[in-house]
Amino acid sequence: MTSDLPVIDHWIAGAPSAGGDRLGPVFDPALGEVAKQVRLGTTADVDAAVAAAKEAFASWSQTSIAKRTQVLFAFRELLNARVGELAEIVTSEHGKVLSDAAGEIARGLEVVEFACGIAQLQKGAYSEQASTGVDVYSLRQPLGVVGIISPFNFPVMVPMWFFPIAIALGNTVVVKPSEKDPSASLWLARLWQEAGLPDGVFNVVNGDKEAVDALLVHPDVSSISFVGSTPIAQYVYETGTRAGKRVQALGGAKNHMLVLPDADLDLVADSAVNAGFGSAGERCMAISVVVAVDSVADALVEKVTERMATLRIGDGRRGCDMGPLITREHRDKVAAYVDQASADGATVVVDGRKGEFDGAADGFWLGPTLVDRVPTSSAVYTDEIFGPVLSIVRVAGYEEGLALINSGAFGNGTAIFTNDGGAARRFQHEVEVGMVGINVPIPVPVAYHSFGGWKQSLFGDTKAYGTHGVDFFTREKAVTARWLDPSHGGINLGFPQNS
Ligand code: NAD
Repeated sequence: MTSDLPVIDHWIAGAPSAGGDRLGPVFDPALGEVAKQVRLGTTADVDAAVAAAKEAFASWSQTSIAKRTQVLFAFRELLNARVGELAEIVTSEHGKVLSDAAGEIARGLEVVEFACGIAQLQKGAYSEQASTGVDVYSLRQPLGVVGIISPFNFPVMVPMWFFPIAIALGNTVVVKPSEKDPSASLWLARLWQEAGLPDGVFNVVNGDKEAVDALLVHPDVSSISFVGSTPIAQYVYETGTRAGKRVQALGGAKNHMLVLPDADLDLVADSAVNAGFGSAGERCMAISVVVAVDSVADALVEKVTERMATLRIGDGRRGCDMGPLITREHRDKVAAYVDQASADGATVVVDGRKGEFDGAADGFWLGPTLVDRVPTSSAVYTDEIFGPVLSIVRVAGYEEGLALINSGAFGNGTAIFTNDGGAARRFQHEVEVGMVGINVPIPVPVAYHSFGGWKQSLFGDTKAYGTHGVDFFTREKAVTARWLDPSHGGINLGFPQNS
């Protein structure tokens, strides 16, 4: 690394902050070179950000709903007008193609729009005359300083699953973005400032394990919202809850798509290619296994292969369909699964290592790969590969497919493709997965339904955004009130009963 590369700082109390001098590389994956450096935050940097957030909480939590809502609307308008600018930042550090980067921003904007309705969402409940002359009501109050730790694959959308709602409810925020693509969070911090958010409400500390660990045990941090791989999610959940925090930790995935014989195979093939190879398979809701009933599997493999041949892989700034992977190490790790597949007896139908790429020679390229007849004992089937490798597993029928899906360690997303409403209804009822698509391959719920998986895909009992988000970022207070009335009175040491 050369010292003249730009350095991405933290953002604390409304201004860039340099802090400690540990630095990490930020690549441009389509060029395959280090383009910037990022500060790797120290415990002292986290302390500074949390202190700023704590100070800002004192006034932001007391700011009226009307004023908080105005800031949210202003942020929404600014972001909506500048999607292209942010998409370019995402593409330059993540590698996903520009249209896909714009797509993740649009899904993040949905959560901002949901949070604009905070006046309705933050309402408590009121029970008049719960007892004679007594009213009972509940209030939703913000938690305080909330920590958000995000993965590399959605540098805009994932933090935005959390912070618009947290901020709208009166909390203050410290975001720890992925160190692989940190610039989007800094850009969003400046946008918040432009929208009129008081300094200190939204802070960013860049970094790695050291910054995460400091947030997890900081006494002034009330909650942690984490998204990343399963082992780290489990670690974060256990460490954060042990430190007395409210924690939601979303983990990894291995999403199956069950194809019944009556499905529209052209729709299935389009969906499998889109959901398997979009964002180079680096999506937690990517389809990585197509579970095809035997009678249609050959025809489906043929249709998927035809479509794969039309994909243009290359620099996301050049109008390609699919970009590079995030790092060279990750590309090599994903590519190694192709050899593993052959060694385990699977059929490699399309080997993505042999493709042509419209980009710099050193880019972290790996083309779409299709592997048929994958044994379920193979690591290709059991591991979360997180790359453009689509597996086909053949089953005799619905029951075998369902049992396979339900036996998996993860339970993030799944889909069924069929024209049989009865089969689809059975599937939605019987499948042990948190998000289900019916003829929809990537069933990411809209902002007013919550996002989250089951099993090893979510630690904690609260999903992201929607009403779960409102619950997670508030504490409820129940008030029982009686105003002076001449009919009351008298001493009674018994437990209060309602009359
Ligand atoms: P990751 O687990 O490597 O990193 C996630 C975050 O944890 C980053 O901010 C990183 O800096 C931090 N981190 C990494 N190692 C750590 C450690 N040892 N101790 C403490 N913190 C650590 O994940 P990633 O590679 O950035 O993202 C890909 C993963 O995220 C995949 O497993 C994917 O399925 C998952 N993901 C899940 C969802 C979901 O909604 N369930 C959404 C997006 C991504």
